[in-house]
Amino acid sequence: MYFLSSLDQKKLFDKVLRAAREVGVSEDLRGWNWNRPPLRPVYEEKIPMYSVCSKYCPTSRDVFLNKVKGITGKTNEPVILGTAIHKTVSTVISSFLDGSIPSFDDWYAETLRSKNVSCAIDAVKEKAKTVWNYVLKNCEIQYTNRLSEQPYASRRDALATSVPFLVEHKVSGELLGLSGLLSIDCYDYLRGIVFDLKVAHEYKDWYRLAPTGYAIVLESVYEVPIDAGCIVYLWFQGNELRASKDMFFINDDLRSWWLEERDQKLSIVAQKMDPGIPPKCYEDCIYREACRG
Ligand code: SF4
Repeated sequence: MYFLSSLDQKKLFDKVLRAAREVGVSEDLRGWNWNRPPLRPVYEEKIPMYSVCSKYCPTSRDVFLNKVKGITGKTNEPVILGTAIHKTVSTVISSFLDGSIPSFDDWYAETLRSKNVSCAIDAVKEKAKTVWNYVLKNCEIQYTNRLSEQPYASRRDALATSVPFLVEHKVSGELLGLSGLLSIDCYDYLRGIVFDLKVAHEYKDWYRLAPTGYAIVLESVYEVPIDAGCIVYLWFQGNELRASKDMFFINDDLRSWWLEERDQKLSIVAQKMDPGIPPKCYEDCIYREACRG
């Protein structure tokens, strides 16, 4: 999922990191400058990253409904599938790093009991199992390759360099007007890449906003530059798993766009301003019932 193929590595080194070196990033758009404009938030309110970055609703009324009116969206199958796949990927990688991998069926049954009963949908379970096996196999291959290249490496060293991922990494976005409980799908700490996983096939340019925001947050907390973002698209063709990556340089344009979105969404919440209903809504909107009746 988050492992780089040889083609991905070429894109990272020859395109993304080259652009980062040649073009660079404006100093005032680096996260460590969170305490001065344009990064310093104008409002005291805090909102989650998904509120800043989601552009499914054309007017951002979803943010108003959720954060001002306190309405929770109605879960639908795409949301259940997305949640199950995210949980599956992070569980496999974390378990692999911990050296203790549960059986998929036991884990899924337990997750079902403790989290979300509606995950009982059989199709979701089958897809989660496919993803589980795929991620586990990839972890094993990377680890075995690493050990074969460096036979004197300790287990810890081989794991840390073959599966160099912080998954569901918890970090605070408070310095930037965000929630203190952010969770990043994956951060590759060896190559400095922020990953965001999408259970979707259709490319959307605004999906790049989330890794951009997380990179700025990581810069604000750890004070290290982060220049690379990657969206992992994952979808199913029948029962076959498909995946592709959109790797990009987190440049000034993306950083400025993310700031515009943050400021606009924060102003909706701070001023309790209803942005209104657009002529055309997102088909699978989870607020449709509460919003349009
Ligand atoms: S129903 Fe339409 S206006 Fe309301 S939140 Fe959804 S997309 Fe936005």
